[in-house]
Amino acid sequence: MRVLFVASEASPFIKTGGLGDVAGALPKALAQKNADVRVVIPKYREINWEVRDKLRFVKWFNVKVGWREQFCGVWECFYNGVTYYALDNEGYFKRDEIYGFYDDAERFAFFDRAVLEMLRQLDWQPDLIHCNDWQTGMLPVLLKFEYKRNDMFYWKMKCVYSIHNIAFQGVFDPQILPELFGFDMELYNNTCLKFDDGVSYMKGGLYYSDIITTVSDTYAYEIQTPEYGQRLDGVLRDRSYALRGITNGIDYDEFDPNTDRFIKKNYNINSIKDKVINKTELQRELGLTVDKNIPMLAMVTRLTNQKGVDLLVNISDKLLQENVQLVILGTGDKHYEEHFKWLDSRYGNKVSANIKFDNGLANKIYAACDMFLMPSLFEPCGLGQLIALRYGSIPVVRETGGLKDTIIAYNEYTGEGNGFSFKSYNSDELYNIIKYALWIYSDKSKWENLIKNAMSSDNSWNRSAQVYLDLYRELTGQD
Ligand code: ADP
Repeated sequence: MRVLFVASEASPFIKTGGLGDVAGALPKALAQKNADVRVVIPKYREINWEVRDKLRFVKWFNVKVGWREQFCGVWECFYNGVTYYALDNEGYFKRDEIYGFYDDAERFAFFDRAVLEMLRQLDWQPDLIHCNDWQTGMLPVLLKFEYKRNDMFYWKMKCVYSIHNIAFQGVFDPQILPELFGFDMELYNNTCLKFDDGVSYMKGGLYYSDIITTVSDTYAYEIQTPEYGQRLDGVLRDRSYALRGITNGIDYDEFDPNTDRFIKKNYNINSIKDKVINKTELQRELGLTVDKNIPMLAMVTRLTNQKGVDLLVNISDKLLQENVQLVILGTGDKHYEEHFKWLDSRYGNKVSANIKFDNGLANKIYAACDMFLMPSLFEPCGLGQLIALRYGSIPVVRETGGLKDTIIAYNEYTGEGNGFSFKSYNSDELYNIIKYALWIYSDKSKWENLIKNAMSSDNSWNRSAQVYLDLYRELTGQD
């Protein structure tokens, strides 16, 4: 199985969010299953220098962008079993940021065409091209309407298109169709790419790929509804037969309480009693009351509406009348940041608000806390709850998107489940479920059983990669 994975970011080269995580971990996991996986990204200035040094120049060629010819250099390296290509054009990619420029339409029009040209230039024929998010949405369009029509080299290639964030759709002036792609206005006039008065790159990916995937089953269903579909729900209902949800995993090497170098005491499912050493250590470090019996609730997140922070804000005073501690790590909307800073000063040794981005502290919190709160408004997949499970910290989540698919509500009668969940987006429901979780916490044997359930949940990439591989096989007709 030969797979070309096309993304605008891939960890550890460059990462700004969940897409970077997936484009880093999934190809690595596929390679471990003997697929020939190659990843292609733009060669940004900001690429992490440690891996940047491994890149070697291969060749250059010109790429058509409308009536112009633009330089494209191909750089290559082999890392973690995967071949990475970085496509170089300094005018487009040697900038301070990676997105948010007036000419983003042109930068990614160039990138999408350059990827297809590169295959011809390297004489490498993947069975399948896996595109991701709006930046690569025009690749399936180019493949279908130009490359497959003109060159047999591309005939058999299938296309998978993955939605990581449907909120960003790459909508631009319709004139880009002739100016950047050399197309006429047909695809705008027949509404296949039309979005309001513009052209949407993401819509291109949704209509012209063979299969669409998104990062959890529930989210695949939700985005077909007006509530979550960001006005692409109609297209997704149209193509629902081609839409699949495949839940993301986490990198089990990177997140492992048994080897984590940030935490005070390593532990695993057979030494759960050691987990509490991390709790008392963190209490000391953050200036909280040092007492292993006080339940510690935590959030590690962007402080935005998506994450349900307003629900916690609404109940924080009431909640802090209980014998609990609250640890927050995050940055985001100013009013949330200010609220948690205020709670920190008001409740002293019960609350610790850390308004910053800090990977080391994040791991310490995952290892230390008893409950990990994710009351999200929407959550395509969510990584926080998966990391929390791995560290035996019990997720308290709202039943939406990937949270619904990965957290099984605890059943005190059967002992099944790996977390707590509530349904309606409502502060009282969050408060009530936390109260219930605190009640279960007071029974040490029930809580320990819950920790074991959490730590034995399998959310490794190994499992998700197998689902992708099965999908690739189904699509290409290979065994
Ligand atoms: P999203 O991608 O929507 O922000 P996820 O739950 O999918 O949410 O992933 C967020 C990731 O970022 C998690 O690994 C979380 O631990 C990490 N993270 C979020 N905020 C911080 C922070 N302030 N410091 C360190 N890590 C953070």
